[in-house]
Amino acid sequence: MTEEAISKQMKDLKVKEEKQAKTADNAGKDGGKKKSKGAGDTGGRTELNPQPQYIEDRLVLYSKLKAEHDALIADRAEKESKPIKITLPDGKVVDGESWRTSPYQVACGISQGLADNTVIAKVNNDVWDLDRPLEGDCSLQLLKFDDEEAQAVYWHSSAHIMGEAMERVYGGCLCYGPPIENGFYYDMYLDNEGVSSNDFPCLENLCKKIIKEKQPFERLEVKKETLLEMFKYNKFKCRILNEKVTTPTTTVYRCGPLIDLCRGPHVRHTGKIKALKIHKNSSTYWEGKAEMETLQRVYGISFPDPKMLKDWEKFQEEAKNRDHRKLGRWDGIQEYTKPDVLLELKQSRRHAVVVSCFQEQDLFFFHDLSPGSCFFLPKGAYIYNTLVEFIRSEYRKRGFQEVVTPNIYNSKLWQTSGHWQHYSENMFSFEAEKEIFALKPMNCPGHCLMFDHRPRSWRELPLRLADFGVLHRNELSGALTGLTRVRRFQQDDAHIFCAMEQIESEIKGCLEFLRAVYDVFGFTFKLNLSTRPEKFLGEPEVWDQAEKQLENSLNEFGEKWVLNPGDGAFYGPKIDIQIKDAIGRYHQCATIQLDFQLPIRFNLTFVRIIEETISHDGDDKKRPVIIHRAILGSVERMIAILTENYGGKWPLWLSPHQVMVVPVGPTCEDYAQRVQKEFHKAGLMTDVDLDPGCTLNKKIRNAQLAQYNFILVCFHLAGMDVTLYQKQFSHYQHVCSDDRK
Ligand SMILES: [Zn+2]
Ligand SMILES: [Zn+2]
Repeated sequence: MTEEAISKQMKDLKVKEEKQAKTADNAGKDGGKKKSKGAGDTGGRTELNPQPQYIEDRLVLYSKLKAEHDALIADRAEKESKPIKITLPDGKVVDGESWRTSPYQVACGISQGLADNTVIAKVNNDVWDLDRPLEGDCSLQLLKFDDEEAQAVYWHSSAHIMGEAMERVYGGCLCYGPPIENGFYYDMYLDNEGVSSNDFPCLENLCKKIIKEKQPFERLEVKKETLLEMFKYNKFKCRILNEKVTTPTTTVYRCGPLIDLCRGPHVRHTGKIKALKIHKNSSTYWEGKAEMETLQRVYGISFPDPKMLKDWEKFQEEAKNRDHRKLGRWDGIQEYTKPDVLLELKQSRRHAVVVSCFQEQDLFFFHDLSPGSCFFLPKGAYIYNTLVEFIRSEYRKRGFQEVVTPNIYNSKLWQTSGHWQHYSENMFSFEAEKEIFALKPMNCPGHCLMFDHRPRSWRELPLRLADFGVLHRNELSGALTGLTRVRRFQQDDAHIFCAMEQIESEIKGCLEFLRAVYDVFGFTFKLNLSTRPEKFLGEPEVWDQAEKQLENSLNEFGEKWVLNPGDGAFYGPKIDIQIKDAIGRYHQCATIQLDFQLPIRFNLTFVRIIEETISHDGDDKKRPVIIHRAILGSVERMIAILTENYGGKWPLWLSPHQVMVVPVGPTCEDYAQRVQKEFHKAGLMTDVDLDPGCTLNKKIRNAQLAQYNFILVCFHLAGMDVTLYQKQFSHYQHVCSDDRK
């Protein structure tokens, strides 16, 4: 991973984490004192009476402006309206009139059902309020809730509803109220007061009222000076106006008594929100900066169908149960069991069916004496090593060569690579013999040294160097979370040094590699191609050529992909990959990133000799391109994702609980131990339960709860040792008789 990608990711995460770190999981943890208003013991609030004065003042000014604006629009419609052509996605063209026809009217013209289900319009590719008149010939798309952009609009509109309720309940100053990946939040400045989860019922009831009133979202364009007057009671909105708004006018939106500074767009009216839940609160800082004011953040979620909210709630419960920090544990017994049969199953890396049953597994722990660095216990280490071994076996098939490189480098290395300038605060560094050294946070610079340690010929390319080296990043201790945010980790990292014209085939190889791995885990994935950003280094032609090759490899790969123009790193375009887990969450793990800059910084070259015709004068030097790539990403984080994905029920090949041998009674213990040894020797994670204080049924139950893939029950039958394996609880099948006796 390259410096810029990392430092950007770090920053994003840091802001996010800092905000999240302050999240008080609503129940009972209040952000501060609260007014002793309203309802008795529960301490929940009620609507303010009288309402804050600013609500009325704002409305008076707004009404005046709105009347002027309506008159202007009516006048425009009168004088400027002319026939326009509206092109729909299927190519159909609809007639309309500029300044009169709205997207909603066009939708109604097609069908009322479509009009009702449309969340937002897109006009010439920009999101557009459904009731906002069209201004000229245009293309028109009508988006429903299943579209990501529409979801953002839907949740953003819901934030206004919650904001309106928050003003009416707390009377504070609203700050930002954006949609997020799942729902929305609104920040409010409340002086020294806090928000309590006890307030949620009151807020939710008020939201319901607002929804029932079907308050229209009205859009109004206003001069900045006027807005500074309108929002003079709220220093945060004034800050936004002064610092963020660079145009002479901007827009406000009204729903009910709330008038909010907002670019929009929104749903047509508050009645479009069919189910809304307020589920969490936390405290945060203005723009995430610790030196700024403390704000109260309230989180909500909403859907166009109450059933979707029910599903979401179920999903939340599921996600909580699967939390890898809690599970740290595994599969129903299905098939049978001599070592060789199990081994075959194990090698096939077939998935086991996941049934739900959760219990903590003894995989890993953390200790205060080394924050963010995980202790993997034997069973956790088994998973760790099995994952690494899996990737290693793929490396052998795919022409990658594994290398081992130092953990500690002189800071001069990081100065050359550019990390010292931008990233040193995230590195652990120390002095030795009067020089500054640092623990590596990534492998790439070390691999550049390796490439450079002797002259390289074009014949050696592509050179694919893989490294499971231990990496350290100095994360703030407050930001550390389980295995997802750690200080010490390993990646299935590799750097491909190749010639420009080899990019296409190498990228294709990377894509096929990641598909092969994700198929084994049962992950589907999304692909994005991020291209040249506004600020970039290097020659535009080189970028164009590389991007074209990336596009070709993506097309040839055959999976759907989306173009993300301008989203590449300054040093090269990249492919972003997001995997989808068993409960529908997306995770970014893999990286495929081109880098034109690191080879320049390390002055890497290879000699291009056209067969034997040119003597070895080394004049024809070329610059290689580096491809940074990883599939698991951090092994630690992948274990967290897999633990949660499988709900602790590991598929046999990855399971640290493969076989449990249970003797029926003390007379079969010797036999049970022999069986255990045999399976263990064959390479299966096998345990035997010899606890004398435990009944047979209890032992089987324990093994089930511990998610052993197979439970073998040993006993004597008519003078023979017999092993049965358990197929379902209280249902046994004959497996094998030991005939060596
Ligand atoms: Zn790298
Ligand atoms: Zn808005």
